[in-house]
Amino acid sequence: MLTLVVPTYNERNNLPALLERVEAALTACGEPFEVIVVDDDSPDGTSEVARSLAARHGWLRVLTRKHQRDLSTAVLAGWFAARGEILGVIDGDLQHPPELLPVLLRRLRETGADIVIASRHVKGGGVSKWSLFRRLISWAATLMAGFILPGTLSRVRDPMSGFFLLRRPVVENSPLRPVGYKILLEVLAKGDYHRCEEVPYIFQERFRGGSKMGLRTSWQYLLHLASIAVDTGEARRVFRYAAVGASGAVVNLGVFALLTRAAGAPPALALPAATALAIINNFLLNDRFTFPETRRRTPGRAAAVGRFVRFLWVVLIGACLNMPLASALMRLARAPLELAVLAGIGAAAAWNFVLNSRVTWKVWWDRDVHLRRWRAEAVPPPPPDTVCNLCGGRQFIVLYRGRAGAASRPDLFCCTSFDHGDFTNILRCVSCSLVFQAPADAIRQIEECYRRVQDPVYLREEQGRVRTFDRLLDEIDAVQGRAEVQGRGRGDSKVQSPAAATPRSAVRTPHSRGCLLDVGCYTGVFLDRARRRGWQVSGLEPSRWAADVAGRRGFSVQEGLLAECALPPASFDAVTVWDVIEHFGDPRAEVERVARLLKPGGLLALSTMDVESGFARLLGPRWPWFMRMHLYYFSPDTLGALLEKAGLEVVEVRRHRRIVSARYLLEKAAAQPSGLSGLFRLAARLPFLGRLHIPVNFGDTINAYARKPMASVATTEPG
Ligand SMILES: [Zn+2]
Repeated sequence: MLTLVVPTYNERNNLPALLERVEAALTACGEPFEVIVVDDDSPDGTSEVARSLAARHGWLRVLTRKHQRDLSTAVLAGWFAARGEILGVIDGDLQHPPELLPVLLRRLRETGADIVIASRHVKGGGVSKWSLFRRLISWAATLMAGFILPGTLSRVRDPMSGFFLLRRPVVENSPLRPVGYKILLEVLAKGDYHRCEEVPYIFQERFRGGSKMGLRTSWQYLLHLASIAVDTGEARRVFRYAAVGASGAVVNLGVFALLTRAAGAPPALALPAATALAIINNFLLNDRFTFPETRRRTPGRAAAVGRFVRFLWVVLIGACLNMPLASALMRLARAPLELAVLAGIGAAAAWNFVLNSRVTWKVWWDRDVHLRRWRAEAVPPPPPDTVCNLCGGRQFIVLYRGRAGAASRPDLFCCTSFDHGDFTNILRCVSCSLVFQAPADAIRQIEECYRRVQDPVYLREEQGRVRTFDRLLDEIDAVQGRAEVQGRGRGDSKVQSPAAATPRSAVRTPHSRGCLLDVGCYTGVFLDRARRRGWQVSGLEPSRWAADVAGRRGFSVQEGLLAECALPPASFDAVTVWDVIEHFGDPRAEVERVARLLKPGGLLALSTMDVESGFARLLGPRWPWFMRMHLYYFSPDTLGALLEKAGLEVVEVRRHRRIVSARYLLEKAAAQPSGLSGLFRLAARLPFLGRLHIPVNFGDTINAYARKPMASVATTEPG
């Protein structure tokens, strides 16, 4: 049986025609089939149209996803719900001819292939009515993918196709992490398959709706390629090659300086000598370090000499390419000298890498080796009672495999913990994309750990927090100021006072701004900064030690958790939850508790990490925030959905910049598993670095502001 998934967004006009053609094509070939339309809550009512069609056709099912708009996770959601042993995907906008489905099916059955792709780039395929510019873009995108992911894509001509069939086991246990429009790339990189076939077809230009390509899509695409390269290990070889190249430059310059300055050699003699040494250096290091498998496969001196000769040729031709390219760029494109030289070097480096791996060392990234490693690392599926905290879903993808097992210790749950890379498994909910860690430690045990936390490093680094919190208070003022301006605009007075128009000046008002509760107030640094601005502050903190410190500073702090505290409902104008929500065992319940504490119109401000940010995707499992104490990993989408489910209105979600000392940053860097830890640790001891504060923003942390509606009821039912 074939399960065909149709991801849709605003396709109400195309859908009936598409489904009619799909039904005609598949009925004719006699294959049992079902179609699953996965709609990302289109405003044009695609879901309703699909549902009314489903009432008439037994083979049609509809899934509507809220709060999400991503084609490839929609496809995954469809596959997870599929009943067929063959899975397929086709665009909802009639760019893919459904009449090709029987051909794809036949090819899959006859050749025993695992994946069959409808391809624009094999003989007989093509694109209709594309401008030269669009063809060029498409060609460049494919070329780039081939360069970044040589191992993944060497066997496929159209890895960007959105129309293909595959056998269920290809994706069943694969850690797919697709983004945007390129789900096939992800399948080719991480799927479990051996044979891949392509069938030509002519891509039909969309005739309704706008084109979906844009700058943001291109950026996402590049990021996706890079993160796949990191995940599959293809990036590792490029990095090693680049490191060897850098060492060659150092040898070249160093020997040149030594010969001319110390030995007094004429530059005309010193330059060739230095270059020769650098070339030998690069060859030996690459032979041992970048391409070790070739040396193991063909040992012996004769083979090594052969490789060296081929290496010399490649480098020589690369050097010849370098100069003419740079001068052509300067003359034809009027590029500045530095840019032209850099482009020349870049082109030569790319040439050298591709040719050296293919010709000199004759290796490429080996998919089979990679697959074996992956299978060896396979983790057991999440416990059957795992339920998504946000949507109640029960189907998950393992994004990253961690090391499960080690016991909980209080210091793992300390605010400034350095235990990076220690997590169990990172899962993503198939239906709502919420990311979390599972299995997590028992909640009681974690809470007990938080009660016992002591954290002297935090006290030492307080100055950085002071500055971060001052910025956050500015932001709260700005959010409140904008709300005031809006409220006034809606009211009868059309004249705005200057104070209301510029929220910054409101900062100086001496009167009380109202009651503020800081959840997880720790040692009271934020309470202190907020009180200086006129807030009436109180705090809540599970750690006995931290609550004590805050109490000694003269703040009213309740020791304990939200569930235990005896705070009256609807009693706060603002509740702040800084870097806390990711620690909760049940974030949805906790946010609902916070919502109950807010007065109508009150503001919830919170900060957390963004797991869908570019930085997080690029670092993959090495993202420093993946650690034992962080149970949930939100994105602007999932965080917004959580706040809305608690009955709050999301006002704003924005990137968060924190300010830390250079010493703290170096200590964090040293805690990352890398070869440079010792160096970072040494540098962190420099005394002045503790006083040097720098803003840090990798775009991977967010602030969210949400308001309790004026006319809301005091409690919201979970459901
Ligand atoms: Zn979910």
